[in-house]
Amino acid sequence: KLYFDYCASTPLHPKVAEQLFCTSEQLYANPSSVHEMGFEANQRVEESRERLSTILHVEPSEVIFTSGATESNNLAIIGAVRTWMKKTSQTPHVISTQIEHSSVFNCCKQLVGEGVEITFLPVDHNGIVSIASIEKAIQVNTMLVSVMHVNNETGSIQPIHEIGKLLRAKPHIYFHVDGVQGFGKLALELDDIDLYTLSGHKIGGPKGIGLLIVKEHVELTPLFFGGEQENGLRPGTTNVPGVLSLVEAIEISYSEREEKMQGLTVLHDLVYSKLEEIPEIIMNSPRPPLSAPHIINFSYKGTGVTSALLISILAKQGIIVSSQSACSSTAKTSRVLMAMTNDEILSSSSIRLSFHESVTPDDVRYLVHSISHMIHQVKSQNKFALL
Ligand code: PLP
Repeated sequence: KLYFDYCASTPLHPKVAEQLFCTSEQLYANPSSVHEMGFEANQRVEESRERLSTILHVEPSEVIFTSGATESNNLAIIGAVRTWMKKTSQTPHVISTQIEHSSVFNCCKQLVGEGVEITFLPVDHNGIVSIASIEKAIQVNTMLVSVMHVNNETGSIQPIHEIGKLLRAKPHIYFHVDGVQGFGKLALELDDIDLYTLSGHKIGGPKGIGLLIVKEHVELTPLFFGGEQENGLRPGTTNVPGVLSLVEAIEISYSEREEKMQGLTVLHDLVYSKLEEIPEIIMNSPRPPLSAPHIINFSYKGTGVTSALLISILAKQGIIVSSQSACSSTAKTSRVLMAMTNDEILSSSSIRLSFHESVTPDDVRYLVHSISHMIHQVKSQNKFALL
């Protein structure tokens, strides 16, 4: 089988797997315990936090380990809104976009039901939000802007560094970035970002671990209540093997970033150019530099063809792909593509290909061949259906 669904999850990097195995076996003591084994586990967690803070140029106290990006996004948004509500009687206003991952989008929708004002900004045909629209949406009660770095369905890159600069002049508005699909792919500068989300299993780390960078000046209200772990922001026994493995994965993906990006850009160009030649296909992702080079999204143009049908035809040829994020995979129409195209047909017949540094040019040649075969099959099935 050939797997092209690396945005949904990645295999453990061999060095991370070794780290996970060794620490699970040896460092099993609770790092909050006041005995020698607990102290050692705690020391290893704090060393990892320090290493991470050096890589990301933040303070160790600004690194909060969580169970993954879904929790980090919820903590950032709900935590900031609840603090605002405790401090002022003014209704909080949050600005986000129509293309965020469901862990941001549905979290914001939940808050709408609780009386919070949310503006979901539209995007252009490339899936990119404009700075002007953010500037225009800011109100006196705006207290948070949440925009992802790289869209998980199309790869479209959002102008987070420009948004950060815009918000620098408005220190009362927190800026949150869901960095899950951009980390280890694109250059990152956290100076103007107040809250930053990352997930382990998208970068060769284990599932069930992630982090939220919470800058010193940001006041969050925790979502859960219990112990004092993670500055009191995230109670619960620290996942020691998870933390150590996550930091290992981050170090690896950070140090190999530029080299990997060169390889992925070549693969992206090869696949994109070939798919563009197929008349029944419409490309939804823009090309780099507007898109990250590990994602290509396209749709079948004809009516009555669903993403599920296309995925199953490719699966019969041993090709594993998806259409939307795994967290939205039951929806028939892609919310992200609807925001970009406003076209129901294209939004319900999309395929997302996502790549990894282990994919070879031969793999993508077979992929392109299988997609051509899939189109041929769909066309002949449609012809019979019309007879
Ligand atoms: N944000 C984005 C952009 C994602 O792609 C994903 C996973 O698909 C998430 C958040 C959620 O990540 P996790 O599985 O760590 O909760």
